[in-house]
Amino acid sequence: MKRILQMLLLSIIVTPVLAINCPTDRPPATITTINNKLTVMTDEEGSRRIWTSEDRHKLTYCISNRFKELKPVIISALEMATKDWMDTANVTFQYVPEADQSCDNRKGPTTLFSISINTSRRYPYAGRAFFPYDERNTITFKKSYVEGSYERLLRLARHELGHVLGLRHEHIRKENPYHQNCSEDDNFTPVTDYDSESIMHYASCGGTGTSELSVKDREGVALLYP
Ligand SMILES: [Zn+2]
Repeated sequence: MKRILQMLLLSIIVTPVLAINCPTDRPPATITTINNKLTVMTDEEGSRRIWTSEDRHKLTYCISNRFKELKPVIISALEMATKDWMDTANVTFQYVPEADQSCDNRKGPTTLFSISINTSRRYPYAGRAFFPYDERNTITFKKSYVEGSYERLLRLARHELGHVLGLRHEHIRKENPYHQNCSEDDNFTPVTDYDSESIMHYASCGGTGTSELSVKDREGVALLYP
């Protein structure tokens, strides 16, 4: 009973979707998710899509050498961002530098996922991530976001890693007064109560957060990964 109440009170949204794009300058009305086949809070077997208690400690990643001179920056941002999530959730991200050489292999990296860069000025997303057990297993960063403000890059890294842990965009919740302009699909379930300060909330959709994880981000992810 206590657990059920906790679940009702918590707000980060968890749901399975195949891949997620985080647009840069696109107007909110055009923000959509990639697919809408998945269900509220559960997958086809009826359970939420988060990493199993075993897999959550094997979240290994490599970083593409295509970052070139920007590689130290992205290494540092990911180190900080993964640490933030690990400080509050019982998960283990691990950078495997030895795998960087084969990080761009078409057959897939030797790590669980890869960190890649898109150098095109026309790339419409600041970042692009995936959810637990998606076939796609890459986080892509737009180059201009890697070479721009470090604070902004950190926020983006924390946000994309939130998707990797199963979190949806917070602004799609009905409690958000701006949600109609920021809707995606209804395949999500609340974990904490609505949190405009969430790292998963776009500022352009009424978000009031900073580049840090919010209090409820921490509470919610600790419940998902106790
Ligand atoms: Zn996003």
